[in-house]
Amino acid sequence: MEGAALCSHPRTIAWPLSDPVRRGGARLGYRSTRRPSRDPLASTGEACFKRDMSTAQLLATDELPPVRVLRADGASDLFLTADHAGRDIPRRLARLGVPETELTRHIAWDIGIRGVTERLSAAFDATAVFQTYSRLVIDCNRDPDVASAIPEISEHTPVQGNIGLTEADKAARIAEIFTPYHDRITTLLDTRAAAGRRTVYIAMHSFTPTFKGENRAMEIGVLYNRDTRLAAILLDLLRAEGDLTVGDNAPYAVSDLTDYGVPRHAEPRGLAHVEVEIRQDLIADAAGETAWAERMARLLAAADARLKAASG
Ligand SMILES: [Zn+2]
Repeated sequence: MEGAALCSHPRTIAWPLSDPVRRGGARLGYRSTRRPSRDPLASTGEACFKRDMSTAQLLATDELPPVRVLRADGASDLFLTADHAGRDIPRRLARLGVPETELTRHIAWDIGIRGVTERLSAAFDATAVFQTYSRLVIDCNRDPDVASAIPEISEHTPVQGNIGLTEADKAARIAEIFTPYHDRITTLLDTRAAAGRRTVYIAMHSFTPTFKGENRAMEIGVLYNRDTRLAAILLDLLRAEGDLTVGDNAPYAVSDLTDYGVPRHAEPRGLAHVEVEIRQDLIADAAGETAWAERMARLLAAADARLKAASG
């Protein structure tokens, strides 16, 4: 890796964990994907991003928790997840050596899906679970054992901070980002099951309109694998809208290798479910998020009513 060879700094740097103020600080919602100005590496560019993770935590105590839950006790049968809602990067990872301009692109997160999912949660009084950190840190919709869970390249962008990771590096990302997120989902689903509540699992995602030069005309995709109960109904309803090109297991299909939420949470519990993908340019601002949340609220309500009727 050419860039790293230029780096003259030692690989193990104590900031910011040595800062007593930060160490003692509460989680105040401090959002930083940039280094603090007192960072000794602040002016050295992208090459010096490596950290020895073997003896230190990944997240500092003042950084955001990896999982955010809205309406944990929501009354709705619908249960929403947004695995790629966030684009934060733990400060210790120094932006993974990726330019800030790249971290606003689709490679870092599912643009617009947080806003749509928040609005759906409000519309239904539905529990919604959001991942805070970028999928470039670790993809929470992928088995961590799959190599692409911590991608070394995303579309055409090298993710230098993901190259040559030690087992300890990977273990820290799993332990501090991936596992707490999925454990929270498990706990919420267990609680609902113990209370005898019905749950319909809706995994919310968004996709880029152009990927590796290929334009995608569809506005929305409905994704599924083994269980088509809800997907078939939602596909019918979306096609009946008349103004949409609808992807049937497109632009992606759900599989055990490329997904985690549906195969690990919904399918084993026998929960009706669907993975929804909305094209990002349609939800790139608040007006788009609102319009699509309203449309999806109407369609998901109708789909769930049909599902309930079909299951007697
Ligand atoms: Zn996604």
